This record gives sequence, C-alpha cells and structure tokens, in this order.
Amino acid sequence: MNLEKASYAEIDLGALAHNLSYVQQLAGQDKQIIASIKANAYGHDVLLVAKALQEIGVDALATGSLDEARLLRTQGITLPILLFAFSTPRLTVQAAIEGYIPTLTNLKVATTVANALKKPAAVYLKVDVGLGRLGEPINTARYFVEEVVNLPNLRVDGIYTHVPFAQVSKSDWAERKLQSFDRFITDLGNAGYTFPLTQAMASCCLLAGFLDQSSAVCVGHALYGLSPFESDSGEGINHLKPVMKSVKSKLIHIAHHAKGSDIAVGGLYGLERAHTVGVLPVGMAHGFCRPPGKDMPVLVRGQKCRVLSVSLEHTTIDLSGIDGADTGDSVTLLGRDAEEIITLATLADAWGIQPLEVLMRLSGKFSVRTAETQAS
Ligand SMILES: *Cc1c(COP(=O)(O)O)cnc(C)c1O
Repeated sequence: MNLEKASYAEIDLGALAHNLSYVQQLAGQDKQIIASIKANAYGHDVLLVAKALQEIGVDALATGSLDEARLLRTQGITLPILLFAFSTPRLTVQAAIEGYIPTLTNLKVATTVANALKKPAAVYLKVDVGLGRLGEPINTARYFVEEVVNLPNLRVDGIYTHVPFAQVSKSDWAERKLQSFDRFITDLGNAGYTFPLTQAMASCCLLAGFLDQSSAVCVGHALYGLSPFESDSGEGINHLKPVMKSVKSKLIHIAHHAKGSDIAVGGLYGLERAHTVGVLPVGMAHGFCRPPGKDMPVLVRGQKCRVLSVSLEHTTIDLSGIDGADTGDSVTLLGRDAEEIITLATLADAWGIQPLEVLMRLSGKFSVRTAETQAS
C-alpha cells in the first residue's frame, strides 16, 4: 500500500454505527445482519471497518476476496466470514478448509468441492432469482438443493440470493423477485429442507422499504452511507451518514509568480496577473484526476481553490486570493473545511462517475484514520 504521510483519509465510525442501527431498524430487530465488506470495505479500509463492526456487533462479514478474509482472521476478526462466489473450485475448497464459508453457485462446483473436501465444511448456496449473474436459476434451484444436500462433506448452513436494482423505477421487479425467493424457501421448508440462514435483501430492497421472510439481510452501501441507486431518491437515503468523512493532504510547496511570468503549469502561460501556485503530494497515483474542461475545487483555509493540474504524483492549485496560505497547510480534497464542503457527490460529478467509483479510485491509496483519532 502506498501511504503518503502528508495525505490521509478519515472515516467516521460513529456514522457507521448510526447507519448500522438504521439498517437494523429497517430490517426488523430479529433479522441477522451480514455486513458486506468487499472491495476494501467499499474503499473505506477493510480492517478498520471490520474491527468496528465486530465491536458494534454484526452477525457475519461477507467479502469476495479470500485474501481479504485471511487478513481479517490474522488481525483478530472472529466473526464468521462469508465468501461471495469469488474464484475457481480449487480456491473455493481451500476457503472451506480454512474455515470461511464459501458460496456454491451450481451443481458442478458443488460436486467438485464436495469430492475434494476430506471432512464436513459449512457452505452457502446461491440462487439466481433474476439478476442474471451468479447462482442456480430459481427454476432449477429445487433440484440443485436436493442434489447438494446429498453430497458428502457439505454442510449447507445458508441459502441466499441477490436482487439489486440501480433504477428506483425497477422496484416492482425487485419486489416480485423477493417474493419468488420467499415462496421458494417456503416450498423447500414444506418438503422438509430447512437451513439455518436465508437471505435476499441488500441495500436497495431495505431502503425501498421492502420486508421479506428471510432470517438475514446482507448490506454494504447503506452501512457506508452510500446510495445504491443511480439517482439519490428515496426517503431512506436521507437517514444515512457518510462514513468516508474526508480526504486531506498538505501544501508541500508554494510558488509565487509575478504578472507577466511565462509559466506552463495548469496552462497559465504569460500571466496577466500575479499568481500563487500551491503543490500537494497527491496525483494520479493516488486515484486523483482533473477532468478536462471542468472546474474542480479543493479547500484551503476554509476557501475553495481551483485545481490547476494533476500529474502522476502532484496536484497544483491556484492559491491566488487565499490570504496567508503557507506550506504545511491542510488541503481538503473531500469533506468539510469551516463553512465549505466538498461532498462525494461533488467529486463524482466533477469526475463524471458514481460516488462508489470515486471511493474505488482512492481505495488503498491513502492511510486511513478514524475521525476520533484525528480529534484527539
Ligand atoms: C455486494 C453484495 C451485497 C451487498 O449489496 P449492497 O447493495 O452493497 O448492500 C449483497 N449480496 C451480494 C451477493 C453482494 O455481492
């Protein structure tokens, strides 16, 4: 990991706890919560987030990376770790042997895993109710389940599906799919097949206010205060707080250029007035960029400054008009400085991407501290 000392991200674990309690309220107090911490906890720092979630209390964690799961185990995370379908049958077997709960998505994989295991291991089965990606299609899932429970060495501890919908207009579709999963589980139960855990709802369904009969929900977006929808509609979103609080750097150099100076940075050339240029040790290597033709601000001393250029390891900003700006000054790339704020949505909009994609670009590029640590 590339940890620039002058630059860091701050996460707000109070916001995480708040969002978790809101999720529990939406899901109902009796629902188990599986926290999705895939992709470095949606870019927030998987270890800090997993430790916090374990302390606050969730029932399990879920990721799509065996490496991430292993990291957490070696760092004191004792919660059950579900692995979303993530790799080849060989690694799926390995994951089961190491005590993680792998997902089996079809009979071929299930058979391979069953035959490779030397002793019983916990697994979850995944059914596809209509997303059209991973899992046994619901129409053939009954046969899949009946076959798998007869395979050796597989202890089917759970069965789940995933029904995300980015467009709020598709919520009817999702509700129908959710109901089809409930019917499927009820039918299985009537035939004598029951499982300790069933799960179908993620952030979209929860924030849309749906309820279902499963014993658990598996949430990511909502925990981090992120909207799972393409447009931020929905009452539910307003109750969430952003966990990614800020990304900050420092001015490492300031250059004053007199009127008439012929400087290239930011395409200024033959200056019509004096300019002060500040340099930060953040660049494309840290996921930062400056979209051509768009203004992108950062905050210095509570005021907006225009980004002039972003190169591999440096960003230059226009400090003209910022009184007293000095090297060592904090520069806010994301978050609040006095009265001004740069939200994830602002940055996403400037970059022409979704907020979660912004987090993915910055993920792992900054040392992450918790907001509490920063205050003390
Ligand atoms: C990522 C993921 C989730 C969590 O979805 P969110 O929209 O982030 O709440 C749930 N289930 C599966 C299978 C996933 O891959």
